Amino acid sequence: MTSTQGANEGNSEEPTHGESKDEAWARKTFSSFEVSMRSMSLGNALQKYHAVMEARLDRLAKSYFANRELACYAGCSVCCHQPLVLHLVEIAELYFRYESRFSKAGFLSKLQAEVLTLDLWRGEGLTTGPEISSRYFREARPCVLLGEDGKCSVYKGRPFMCRNLLAPKVCTFESVHFFGFATIGRLDKQMLEAIGKNYDLNRFDTRPNKPETPWFFLGEGLWWLSKHPQLEEIRILLRA
Ligand code: SF4
Ligand code: SF4
Repeated sequence: MTSTQGANEGNSEEPTHGESKDEAWARKTFSSFEVSMRSMSLGNALQKYHAVMEARLDRLAKSYFANRELACYAGCSVCCHQPLVLHLVEIAELYFRYESRFSKAGFLSKLQAEVLTLDLWRGEGLTTGPEISSRYFREARPCVLLGEDGKCSVYKGRPFMCRNLLAPKVCTFESVHFFGFATIGRLDKQMLEAIGKNYDLNRFDTRPNKPETPWFFLGEGLWWLSKHPQLEEIRILLRA
């Protein structure tokens, strides 16, 4: 395959051999997003990312639940007992949106406790995301953003991966039924990493032994950002 053929295929709306319509949509969407992002500010690119992903998720969910009930309801939170893994740009969006609450001493202590717990677990030998996730769930440890009332305290600004969790039957800790649309999950990761690369956000990841791309457990990421020496620079970049 020549590079010209590759470029044409990336922009084609037609599914190629072995590709579902949904995958073709994701490929085309990513390709056009990557190109248009080059002439956009970070703020505009993020708006576009949210608009595209939410519209598609809405469409898929409406179609999937056309003939079955959506079991999720406000106050049901079994799925919120997992450690969310978020890209640096999502951590920053969340932090700045709720900064007045997140920068309060009480919330910072909660974040610090989260960091200490994860460190403790790593010290006990849990190193991978799934291992940590499973311990979280087993101990029914809530997400740092879950309110006492069992509702998400940042519901309107909750990360996209939380929006992509749906269930046709009410979950319990013994029996979970939630799932996420795989194409949406993959595209979400791809778009966030492209944003990180295009705006050179990875340079802000100052952690020792940092991974190749800047992903964080939610609580650790919020704590890390609240102490970041370039907080103002990141804020300005996001608002541009
Ligand atoms: S995914 Fe499961 S736990 Fe989460 S709100 Fe829906 S039914 Fe409840
Ligand atoms: S951010 Fe909100 S919706 Fe997402 S896991 Fe945490 S509490 Fe649940």
